[in-house]
Amino acid sequence: MNATQEAPVLQTPDPLLGRLLDAAIEAIGTNAERLGDLDRAIGDGDHGLNMLRGFAALAAQRDALAALPLAAALESAGNLLVMNVGGASGPLYGSLLIAMGKAGAREDASVTAMLDEGVAAVKRRGRSDRGEKTMLDVLVPVQLAWEQSCREGLLPRAALERVRRAAKEGLESTRPLLATKGRASFLRERSIGHLDPGACSSFLLIDAACGVFLEDKP
Ligand code: ADP
Ligand code: MG
Repeated sequence: MNATQEAPVLQTPDPLLGRLLDAAIEAIGTNAERLGDLDRAIGDGDHGLNMLRGFAALAAQRDALAALPLAAALESAGNLLVMNVGGASGPLYGSLLIAMGKAGAREDASVTAMLDEGVAAVKRRGRSDRGEKTMLDVLVPVQLAWEQSCREGLLPRAALERVRRAAKEGLESTRPLLATKGRASFLRERSIGHLDPGACSSFLLIDAACGVFLEDKP
């Protein structure tokens, strides 16, 4: 097994893509109620339904997406989420995947560059950063965990486990935070003590993706 390096991003259809899509669709499907509950506590309660709508659109295009090279699939999936999720999270997840896809389509593409550009796009679109009780409290730690793993030359399995742990800790880190972006910010101090729904959906998606990659690297 090679160390976690800047392995080239496949420019042909990736056999893992269908499994990644299935895992993501399942993760949202089975947790939609939990996402709705979290959003009912500090938002307007629609995050589960918003994500379900977006991922139903991905499910409807599953085979067509799975037949594309990774970069093109990410971009198409991002556009589908922009069109179907609704709510603040639609354009944010859309920006993430579209920017990751564009970075992945370049000749010198790397997972690090895809994560860097995806997360930067969410920050730009949301005018937000880590520490504001949003999905970025999961996405930024994931980005940093991957970078650190590459720097240390960790084996892929250890890197994926570190990323998974960073996503979980990132989600938990939102509980004590005061929301300063999105609907939860309207609650001010009353947003403290709750997990952020978008951080939870980001955790679920990253956890599902890591699960697929880990199955592939026993
Ligand atoms: P809405 O807030 O419009 O009802 P959702 O409920 O689908 O949309 O999504 C809410 C989630 O979107 C939040 O929990 C948060 O993680 C994320 N979010 C909202 N605003 C921002 C922002 N400016 N930057 C980053 N993430 C944000
Ligand atoms: Mg909402």
